[in-house]
Amino acid sequence: MSADCPFCGIIAGEIPGRIVHETDTVTAFLDANPLAPGHTLVVPNDHHERLDDLSEDLASDVFAALHRLTPAVEAAVDADATTVAFNNGSAAGQEVPHVHGHVIPRFEGDGGAP
Ligand code: 5GP
Ligand code: ZN
Repeated sequence: MSADCPFCGIIAGEIPGRIVHETDTVTAFLDANPLAPGHTLVVPNDHHERLDDLSEDLASDVFAALHRLTPAVEAAVDADATTVAFNNGSAAGQEVPHVHGHVIPRFEGDGGAP
């Protein structure tokens, strides 16, 4: 756990978060500033900054959660598709230094990639 990390705080129950999926290794919760209704973040429970900081097992757990959640998120908000993305490093737009996959619901005619 990293003291200043909001995602560690959500996982620890110290910061409010709308958790939608939780395992021993991975947690998913709604984004506080969603790009679309249902925008969900999937994070490893342990604090790691970048994708390549994860063990292969933990990376697999994150991907398994994404695999499971993309249809669930689409169904929850009646979306047509999802964009799944990682900003991996600050130059790529990563603002929270705790690995997170975005699951962003997409709708026909919503104007292209975010
Ligand atoms: P990044 O730019 O790092 O890929 O995305 C960070 C995401 O985390 C943003 O979409 C932002 O809205 C979300 N976010 C930042 N702080 C919090 C927080 O405290 N709680 C939740 N649920 N989402 C957050
Ligand atoms: Zn963290």
